[in-house]
Amino acid sequence: TSQLMAGKRGLIMGLANDKSIAWGIAKACANAGAELAFSYQGEALLKRVGPLAAELGSDIVLPCDVGDEDSIDQLFAQLEEKWGKLDFIVHAIGFSDKSELRGRYVDTSKNNFLMSMDISVWSFTSVVKRASAMMNEGGSCLTLTYYGAEKVMPHYNVMGVAKAALEASVQYLAEDLGRDNIRVNAISAGTIKTLAASGIGDFRYIMKWNEYNSPLRRTVTQDEVGKSALYLLSDLGSAVTGEVHHVDAGYHVIGMKNPDAPDI
Ligand code: NAD
Repeated sequence: TSQLMAGKRGLIMGLANDKSIAWGIAKACANAGAELAFSYQGEALLKRVGPLAAELGSDIVLPCDVGDEDSIDQLFAQLEEKWGKLDFIVHAIGFSDKSELRGRYVDTSKNNFLMSMDISVWSFTSVVKRASAMMNEGGSCLTLTYYGAEKVMPHYNVMGVAKAALEASVQYLAEDLGRDNIRVNAISAGTIKTLAASGIGDFRYIMKWNEYNSPLRRTVTQDEVGKSALYLLSDLGSAVTGEVHHVDAGYHVIGMKNPDAPDI
């Protein structure tokens, strides 16, 4: 393990269990010497997140529901008290009503549209604002997005619209905070079987399609997203900001089905 992140303190948001993308990123950062804090959504997740945090030597495990601004304020107030400074944050949070992650986008309800935008888009801006106030020596902010922001993917619907807005936010935040040497980037991850992903209609089919048609002819792992995150969060990515970096086995460059791909 390297010491790339020695002396750096980072907040990981969006850890639900050991299948979470946030877990792959947290492990990569901890193995590189970072000191971590975790936030979790709701009491029920504490029994999972607590032991995982402990595995990486962290005892800073704080509740935060990003749908509630007061809850975000409390999280950062507690972090300020414990640490004073912050070097990086990982925002691995997204949510939409799963009954609308199937069928047609045109049938999205206004309530779910607004809720998906609130939890999946606004929360990143809200969190980055507070985190940047603690990044006195520069910093790095990372969020997670998906190819459904760029092209229509089956069932992704309102989440695709939300991810497009999230990716635009990354660019505006990068410009606002660049003068303070705070970088803002996103990783566009390939499909990975997680709790959130299981809410998407026909997810198994989508996984297989990606496996058969991506240039690397496979899907990606949480640990691989973790490695790329390490580059963006550490000094290795010191000149990279406003970027949406694809960690998707190359799937985003493909224009057509691989003629040799088996039927699914
Ligand atoms: P996950 O279910 O492990 O993580 C989603 C997290 O969002 C959970 O920890 C959940 O508690 C948190 N969350 C939801 N609503 C919240 C709220 N109101 N307040 C605080 N936290 C809340 O699934 P994941 O796939 O690891 O998702 C992480 C991110 O990666 C999401 O933004 C997702 O869209 C993105 N992503 C996932 C894939 C994939 O195929 N799994 C691909 C590309 C991008």
